[in-house]
Amino acid sequence: MSLQENYTQVEEGIAAACAKAGRRREEVHLIAVSKTHAAEKVQEVFALGQKAFGENRIAELAEKRSQLDKSIEWHLIGQLQTNKVKLLPQETILHTLDRESLVQKLASHFTSVRPLRCLIQVNCSREPQKSGVSIEDFFSLAEKIAAEKALRVLGLMTMAEHSTEETTIRQAFADLRKLSQKVTEQRLFEGYAGWLSMGMSGDFGYAIQEGATHVRIGSAIFGERTFP
Ligand SMILES: *Cc1c(COP(=O)(O)O)cnc(C)c1O
Repeated sequence: MSLQENYTQVEEGIAAACAKAGRRREEVHLIAVSKTHAAEKVQEVFALGQKAFGENRIAELAEKRSQLDKSIEWHLIGQLQTNKVKLLPQETILHTLDRESLVQKLASHFTSVRPLRCLIQVNCSREPQKSGVSIEDFFSLAEKIAAEKALRVLGLMTMAEHSTEETTIRQAFADLRKLSQKVTEQRLFEGYAGWLSMGMSGDFGYAIQEGATHVRIGSAIFGERTFP
């Protein structure tokens, strides 16, 4: 299948999931995850009207960003090492803020005048190998983040367990939604936007049913990755 066919199919899938969930299509934003794929392919998908792209590695993001249209909105969805913070463009949206050392590093690099927009990654599936702050430790980390004016928290991000069980997958997404509701109720962050970044190629339908505002879809658009 061509990129255009893949992209159309993903669009239709998102629209169908929105209809099933009784949500408006505009409530769900697609982030096309282009990691490992060449800038030419990103350009092709951009030409189809896609504006937001996600990358796992900061070096790869920076390289594609320098080659491609300046209006592209870039999302860093992979782990960020503290020693790479200086490479992160301020316009990037970081989905993986998950620990205090990273909070401190980001806070000393960015400023309240031009804060970094970020999402807190939460390990809702409780798998030990997954990154993200645990639900138990969430509020103590959130307090530290809220004290930093150089960080603007827009929402939360999670990855569901790799599973075929609908209930298992949806539980993680529902847990993130409930956590975000608490964040909103407690007015933890100034300018909190309630973003829920959840759902990938295999599970975005469930994520949309559970309230996802941003789905991160890679292989369903770009095809399988040769280098994971
Ligand atoms: C790679 C990746 C995605 C996209 O995964 P696909 O299954 O290819 O859609 C989404 N989120 C994160 C954090 C990723 O690393």
